[in-house]
Amino acid sequence: MELAYQNVMYLPGVGPKRAELLKTEMKIYSAEDLLHFYPYKHIDRTRFYRIREISDDQTYVQIKGQIMSFSKQGEGRNARLTAIFSDGEQTIELVWFKGAKFIQDKLKTGVTYVLFGKPSVFNHEYNFVHPELETLTEYTKGQTLGLEPYYNTTEKMKAAFLNSKAIRKIMYGLMPQVAAGLPETLPASLLQRFGLMNLTETMQQIHFPKNIESLKRARQRLKFEELFYIQLQILRQTKWREQNIKGYSMPVVGEHFNRFYKDYLPFPLTNAQKRVIKEIRLDMMAGKQMNRLLQGDVGSGKTLVALMCALIATDNHFQTCIMAPTEILANQHFQSLGTMLGDMDVRIDLLTGSTPAKKRATLHEELRSGKLDILIGTHALLEDVVVFHNLGLVIIDEQHRFGVAQRAKLWQKNNRPPHVLVMTATPIPRTLAMTIYGDLSVSVIDELPPGRKPIETYHYFNTKRQTVNAFLYKQIMAGRQAYIVYPLIQESEKSDLANLEAGYEYMRETFPQFKISMVHGKLKPVEKELQMQRFATGQTQIMVATTVIEVGVNVPNATIMVIENAERFGLSQLHQLRGRVGRGAEQSFCILLTGVKLSSDTRQRMDIMVRTNNGFEISEADLKLRGPGDLEGTAQSGLPFELKVANLATDGRMLEIARRTAIEILDNDPNLEKPENEIFVRQLEKLKKQAVNWGVIS
Ligand code: ADP
Ligand code: MG
Repeated sequence: MELAYQNVMYLPGVGPKRAELLKTEMKIYSAEDLLHFYPYKHIDRTRFYRIREISDDQTYVQIKGQIMSFSKQGEGRNARLTAIFSDGEQTIELVWFKGAKFIQDKLKTGVTYVLFGKPSVFNHEYNFVHPELETLTEYTKGQTLGLEPYYNTTEKMKAAFLNSKAIRKIMYGLMPQVAAGLPETLPASLLQRFGLMNLTETMQQIHFPKNIESLKRARQRLKFEELFYIQLQILRQTKWREQNIKGYSMPVVGEHFNRFYKDYLPFPLTNAQKRVIKEIRLDMMAGKQMNRLLQGDVGSGKTLVALMCALIATDNHFQTCIMAPTEILANQHFQSLGTMLGDMDVRIDLLTGSTPAKKRATLHEELRSGKLDILIGTHALLEDVVVFHNLGLVIIDEQHRFGVAQRAKLWQKNNRPPHVLVMTATPIPRTLAMTIYGDLSVSVIDELPPGRKPIETYHYFNTKRQTVNAFLYKQIMAGRQAYIVYPLIQESEKSDLANLEAGYEYMRETFPQFKISMVHGKLKPVEKELQMQRFATGQTQIMVATTVIEVGVNVPNATIMVIENAERFGLSQLHQLRGRVGRGAEQSFCILLTGVKLSSDTRQRMDIMVRTNNGFEISEADLKLRGPGDLEGTAQSGLPFELKVANLATDGRMLEIARRTAIEILDNDPNLEKPENEIFVRQLEKLKKQAVNWGVIS
């Protein structure tokens, strides 16, 4: 029987109870699923390392040696046990924070052990924390494998003795079936062209590799396959959409656009703004539905671009809605667009969660009758009661806060899906854009308006608060304004709110001569708005806030951004926050405050922020440091299929090759109808089914 149809329950060593666990804990149903459950690491049992060989980049090693001595610090459950381990040449410290008594009873000096572990660094010296030790006798008895696979398990699985070792055994039992040959999922032509391992060998080598080289080759093959099928799926969808979904054609660049351009433009457009407006205009007139991502670093002037695109829609008798992630931002857009439009004959209005019922009713009516040209708002726009007369363009600002499902809702607001322009200030690295947004066209504003001085960024330990305060004082006395931002990852976290309030009090005490605003997510919208306005109009000099001010807020006179507990923010978020300053003609500053003890990750983040203002560089670095799964919005935007081996942060080159290959194939056979391409169709169907299953189950 084919592995795909074989229930794991019947594999040797599994049975009903373990099968249930594999299903609920790991979503493993069939023997094939199990086979695709790859080890997260291998321990090199092919040789013993020497202590002197230990280096930073090692993962797990095995060392043969003896324990010279033990020492115990503290008493009872919290006792810490350390031991000196020697390989006959050098010594290294072993540390246990738990189970000191048990371990000391079990291990003996003068016995030869094999130690497994991952070296770590403490006080500039290597040590092993909670290493595993096995007597050489046991080790020799048990040893069967060169590179030993280790599998992820959960607490529940371990409780049922379904640990890594147990999975290894079950997997080993599956290998004879694998050796009999697996049906290939990539055509021979591609295997040959790229020198890839065949599937049967790949599955053998990914679990039980002969050596490191063959493990690498197995991983290469799997990476390529994952990336290739993702690209094939995305590109196929795009083709399908192009062929089947008609978009509104907006051929006219008329009175509104031209008049605005001639008489109302507040400043000359940058070349980049001109270029992207042209790209968007061509899309809107083409008769296809536009799906475009507009990337532009913070402060690059996306709002103006949005307005001019809306005016094209107006010229063609279509309505536009502009959706922002927060009320503050929606308000601000409403105000700045209103100001820019001046007395032009364009009807623009605002709809948010706090729009009063009566006003709301009028708005709904004006929308339905077509009186309104541009509607700005928050999620409130998505509600079913919001009906447009003729919605032609949807602009979504700061896209990473909107889910796919929400976007889809907007599609249904007219007979044909409106054009969609997604604007983001979080630059998305190329590799990620090619994957997650693979079906979007991309426009980039790669130029800031003239006269901007690059923001200077400094990192201070919070022991240097006096220095920072003195600096703030000087700047504010010179007429500038400052943001002080506190982390509030979860607006509901009480301790965070307390932090913010303490920070506010501290500022009041430190600067009795200045007026201070405070904004956080718990405030009523009206109050939030009032505080923002007070700051924006210069009535207050300091704005103490949470990340609610992260996106879009525009107060050009604010030139200092102090970020408290900067270690608690990710790179993209730090960059976003920093983008709140540097919007006027004056020199701006960003000050990152952290504790003194920093992890190496945090240190790197701070260094990158200090070194560069370039959003693309920052997001590349972010991707490398955090991994793609973690990037905001990635999970909800969703890859069509799961990546198990490939890594978008590091496999960019492979991704491009995979993409080019997919394009080539679809160019030759857009609907994958040729017999030699049947293998792709079959595999895509299978992957889609798996992806669906995942969604339903979890
Ligand atoms: P973002 O791309 O971050 O949304 P905004 O649209 O808020 O940026 O623009 C940032 C600031 O730059 C605003 O004050 C805006 O008025 C100004 N601005 C936009 N375009 C230009 C331009 N071509 N020349 C000068 N200033 C501009
Ligand atoms: Mg903006």
